[in-house]
Amino acid sequence: MFDEKPIVISKSIIQVQKNLKETEKNEDIFGCDTNYRIINKSSILQLKIQQFFLIELLSSDNEKYLVKIDDLNHFFGWKVKDSVAFHEDDHFQICTEIYNTELFLDLQENFGISQIFEIKEKASYSILPCEMEDKRTGMGIDVAEFDTKISSLSSTLNGEVVNIRGVVSEVINDDNGTRIVLNEDLQSTKLYLRACYNCPPKGIVPKTIWRFCNVVKQTSRKNNIYLSSTALTRFEFISGKTELPSKGELVFIQDLLNGTLKIGEIVFSVSEILKLSLEYLCVSCGSSVYNGYCTYVGCKAPPKFEMIGSLQACISDYTNVAFLVAKDIDCIFTILNISSKEKLEIEEDLKRIEDFTIQNGTKIHKILQ
Ligand SMILES: [Zn+2]
Repeated sequence: MFDEKPIVISKSIIQVQKNLKETEKNEDIFGCDTNYRIINKSSILQLKIQQFFLIELLSSDNEKYLVKIDDLNHFFGWKVKDSVAFHEDDHFQICTEIYNTELFLDLQENFGISQIFEIKEKASYSILPCEMEDKRTGMGIDVAEFDTKISSLSSTLNGEVVNIRGVVSEVINDDNGTRIVLNEDLQSTKLYLRACYNCPPKGIVPKTIWRFCNVVKQTSRKNNIYLSSTALTRFEFISGKTELPSKGELVFIQDLLNGTLKIGEIVFSVSEILKLSLEYLCVSCGSSVYNGYCTYVGCKAPPKFEMIGSLQACISDYTNVAFLVAKDIDCIFTILNISSKEKLEIEEDLKRIEDFTIQNGTKIHKILQ
């Protein structure tokens, strides 16, 4: 569901809570643990209906491992430069499902990767923040990323994998995928995203500064430089620009979670609807409605009903993930992002049944069928 259309929601109805469990703090790095440095991470990728992300790990003896992770709840927990300690020796298994896909060809071509691993189901691990790891193990591997300047792109080779940073000036979504225009002073470069397996990042909006890691430099027939995404492309939010969008202040989930900002407009995508309940109440007596009538026998008022409801969802803007609660009925329908026809159908259904509750991760498009 990370590929849903972005929704802009007004500030008055947003509550965010820290959604992810704090990374387990492991104070003991015993000699028996196998430590790896996280040197690379992809965005959320899609293969058919499956969503996952990839991380690249560097072992203490400089071996690289590309690992596929299916649980998107851990997406923000894996941070480049942090380390991971596995508590058992036997923690990887070869993952075969990606082989013979376009994604695998991309990984082979751009990164020379020939094997992909998965973490064994029973393997336990802890993620250690990079400062802590350096102090305790002295495993000071330098994975500092080198950004290529947009202005010096012309001197890099075609097909070269680069990291680049700039101000987003335009985001265009069409059938051919997403095109993002990046600026640096007067220079501008278009970044093309092939949408086949790379979910376009919805948190990327104009006037914000981002780093695009692992993109490939290309030159068009007309000699224009552009960049295309790879399987290991990652989008790092750097900051918002001082100049703000037309209405209100645009903020990011990360800022709200950190408490640096308390209120503002966010652009997000809904990753999961956790709970939705809708109900009609009789405007005159407040009783519930069943089969188009007020359920209170003594109520002689003409049938006039009001819809109430609540929605809990997991939302993401590529800076972080948050838990969102909405109580306003207009707001709920905005988040559900359904057509006016579908909305009418729900309203009709609701008058027939007493109430409507969906819980625990049922996808909204299934609910509406
Ligand atoms: Zn009534």
